[in-house]
Parts: sequence; structure tokens; C-alpha cells
Amino acid sequence: MASNNNKHFLVKYLECRHNYAARSNGYVLDGCGEFCPTGAPETLESFICAACHCHRNFHRKVEVEVEDRVESPIISINHPSHGTC
Ligand SMILES: [Zn+2]
Repeated sequence: MASNNNKHFLVKYLECRHNYAARSNGYVLDGCGEFCPTGAPETLESFICAACHCHRNFHRKVEVEVEDRVESPIISINHPSHGTC
């Protein structure tokens, strides 16, 4: 039963689906494209989107299959993201 499968799923939260006009049968979104936590992981703020201030539950949840590759990381981490997400 040995498993050499290094794949795992990364959960991401994409566009915000908070419908601001639900009460009037409309459909108005805030246009937020991807959830970005306000605070550090495992804090209450980490469930709030920094861009639209909605709870993470309003964002579309996707699971991305990723493979663990230990050798030669391609992603450069030398470019800190600019302020807002
Ligand atoms: Zn939102």
C-alpha cells in the first residue's frame, strides 16, 4: 500500500459572489476577483477578504491539484506583491 503520489490539493478562493442586490431580486457583485486574506493565517482576519471585506465563504472555492516538486523551484519569490491584492 505504499503511495508515491506526491499530488495534493491546494484550496484557493477565487471571485467574490456576494450578491448585494439579493433582497431586491437583483444581481450586483463587488467585482472582487480573488480572495486575499486580511490577516495572518488562523486569525479571524484571515477569513475576511482584504479587497472587498466579504467573508471567505462568499468566494468561489476551487481545489487545484499540485505536485510536490522539491528540486528547482520555478517560482521567484523575489517580487513582493505591491500593497493591495
Ligand atoms: Zn466581496
